[in-house]
Amino acid sequence: MMTLQSKESDVKSTDEWMVSDELKELDAAENELVEKERHLTMLTNESFSKMKEISKINRDLQNRIKSLQELSASLNRKNDELKIANKELERKTIHNNQVSLELKEKLERVTQKEKELSMQRDFLAKRLDETTQDLVKAEKFAIIGELSARLAHDLRNPLSVIKNTMDVMADKQNMKIDERLKHIARFKRAVQRMSHQIDDVLDFVKKTEMVSHKASLRSIIDSAISVILIPPNVKIFLPQNDVTVICDSRKLEAVFSNIMLNAIQATDDNGEVKIRIIDTNTHVKIEFEDTGSGIPSTVMQKIFDPLFTTKQTGTGLGLSICKNIVEQHGGTISVKSPPTIFVITLPKNVL
Ligand code: ADP
Repeated sequence: MMTLQSKESDVKSTDEWMVSDELKELDAAENELVEKERHLTMLTNESFSKMKEISKINRDLQNRIKSLQELSASLNRKNDELKIANKELERKTIHNNQVSLELKEKLERVTQKEKELSMQRDFLAKRLDETTQDLVKAEKFAIIGELSARLAHDLRNPLSVIKNTMDVMADKQNMKIDERLKHIARFKRAVQRMSHQIDDVLDFVKKTEMVSHKASLRSIIDSAISVILIPPNVKIFLPQNDVTVICDSRKLEAVFSNIMLNAIQATDDNGEVKIRIIDTNTHVKIEFEDTGSGIPSTVMQKIFDPLFTTKQTGTGLGLSICKNIVEQHGGTISVKSPPTIFVITLPKNVL
């Protein structure tokens, strides 16, 4: 019995051992399960946060895709606009090419017209020159005709004075010396008038070349006065200074005596004539002032015109000749009135 009991106790102990092993295994399996569950929970948490990250990345990506899509749409729009602009540009280029072609043609036509016009202008200028020359010639002839007629008429007066005086002197053989001198003075005046008129005409008709040299203005004024008969009641005031200029002294003498004669005539042989020399740096002014009747403004505009005169026996050439001579010297002549002052400005042309 004992043996059986022992055997039974042996069997129980094996079962127990087996149960305990199984329990151990179960514990281990449970631990492993717990471990696995913990691991799984960890993995789940990790994958959950990863998923969160991924979904955030996904959202970002979606946003980016969206903005890329928008960008692409706007680029497409821009592209379309560019295509339209390009087409417009092409159209404009074609149009511009056409316009520039037309312009080129027009320019060629204008250049051609310009050439034609320039030829016509040259032709007209030549014709104008010829016509002007013809007119100047015709005017010269007309002036010469009028001059000859006037000269013939004007010479008759002093000639008849001479003839009458000669007749009187021939009739009165034993004339007293006083009376004889009076008649001789009439001769002189008549001759002076004739020679002045003839000189005027000759000076006007033949415009001679300048013969320039250094000369003193004071000496030219002196010789201009020496050829004029100064009436006793006319007082001449001469300049006290002198200036040397390069000039044609014979021509200037004619100018000065002409102006002096006009001044004396304007005073009606009773008054004063003042002559001044004013030295400026490069030029010199010669002024002739008289106490005569003065020049009305209507006359003033014409006094330098050839043949203009207000005198019965004038030629109307004196001042026109003066102007020509002064201009030949590169100078100017002007007048103001009252009092009447003729101003001649000449370049000195000397160092
Ligand atoms: P003419 O002495 O033969 O008339 P001019 O050409 O010398 O010719 O003068 C033209 C005109 O200018 C004169 O007729 C006169 O009317 C006017 N004139 C010239 N000098 C004077 C002057 N000093 N005072 C007033 N008038 C003047």
